[in-house]
Amino acid sequence: MKQVTVLGATGSVGVSTLDVISRSPDRFKVFALTANQSIARLEKQILQHHPLYAVVQDEQVAALLRASLKGARVNTKILSGAKALAQVASDDAVDYVMAAIVGAAGLLPTLAAAQSGKRVLLANKEALVMSGDLFMRTVMENNAELLPIDSEHNAIFQCLPRTYFSDPENSGIKKIILTGSGGPFRLASLSSLKTVTPEQACAHPNWNMGKKISVDSATMMNKGLELIEACYLFSLDPRLIDIVIHPQSIIHSMAQYIDGSVVAQLGNPDMRTPIAHALAWPERIESGVADLDMIVQARLDFEAPDYQRFPCLKLAQDAIRLGGAASVTLNAANEIAVAAFLSSDLAFTQIAQTIAYVQDNLSINTVDTVDQIIDADNKARDVAHEYIQQIASEKS
Ligand code: NDP
Repeated sequence: MKQVTVLGATGSVGVSTLDVISRSPDRFKVFALTANQSIARLEKQILQHHPLYAVVQDEQVAALLRASLKGARVNTKILSGAKALAQVASDDAVDYVMAAIVGAAGLLPTLAAAQSGKRVLLANKEALVMSGDLFMRTVMENNAELLPIDSEHNAIFQCLPRTYFSDPENSGIKKIILTGSGGPFRLASLSSLKTVTPEQACAHPNWNMGKKISVDSATMMNKGLELIEACYLFSLDPRLIDIVIHPQSIIHSMAQYIDGSVVAQLGNPDMRTPIAHALAWPERIESGVADLDMIVQARLDFEAPDYQRFPCLKLAQDAIRLGGAASVTLNAANEIAVAAFLSSDLAFTQIAQTIAYVQDNLSINTVDTVDQIIDADNKARDVAHEYIQQIASEKS
């Protein structure tokens, strides 16, 4: 029986994780659940899964949850704050940690899980984008296991030979083909992108996801973050990763071998597949995902990415090539710009402009420690805020 902590349990990935876990009650037990504000959903999850701990960010929210659970037949301890989050990610009793908090808020608990040698199921790509080398070193030094949850990286993991991780040079891999749906605006004209709304940006054609990653998919920053994620996860130079648009999201990514073979992983676009894969690896378990019907699917299309309409992709490529703090500041600026777009304070096309501004106006050299990473992240957020305020004052 594996004890699992689900960080970000109330989100899209968190909910899918609990669905998969509940299909294998003989294998997995929920140790802790965490959330930010969604206490009604968290309460329901507590009543269903009876975790030992539940953690929220804010003590006032925790007090509300305790009051609401009074009289219920559960012994869940309700905790709050960053320390408690790291504690439930690193507790000796925990075997697996699903890292499914969105954004930089997930960095410290995800690192805590790696530091304490857990199996880390990594959905929170921003944590890896921010801490790249440090995170991978932490995994190695503490004998943690790192299994990708992002469907593309999980697919790549499945397509690579086992020998890749011990001897990549002699594994026969030539390059990786990272696929992306192209998002809801794949066919939109550049001029129409100026006026798209948050609702339109969040209406992804294939995946049902949280708001932040939905907007990232619409700008294609998601593919950019995934490129950076793939470079770290698989120790690859970005030039060895091709990005291909595949609108149906059936092929989740591919590995090209030196003999001309291309190995792909296919499946319906449902996060329960990579989640079940990573939870059970190296075994396989039921995920609840419907079988892929190739006759119904009928066709698979591919096209090249358009860097003119989706400049975020280029900004991410530049950041990983530049190294140093560039990925940290890229991610921070993106988080601020996406939040401003979601609250209608920024136009869709200004997301990329904000990131470019931050990248051009901030120079930070060293990000070797967690403190330096957090410092770079904070500085980039400040510059992004300044730029967004500047845009607002020019408008008024
Ligand atoms: P959601 O927005 O649906 O969920 C985010 C979760 O994180 C919620 O539980 C939320 O709590 C919690 N959270 C948000 N802010 C904080 C904070 N400051 N402190 C603590 N917890 C917080 O996101 P998704 O599930 O869509 O995505 C999660 C991660 O997985 C992201 O990094 C995303 O890029 C990645 N991912 C997601 C995929 C998907 O299909 N959704 C696919 C591949 C990767 P609350 O509900 O209370 O706000």
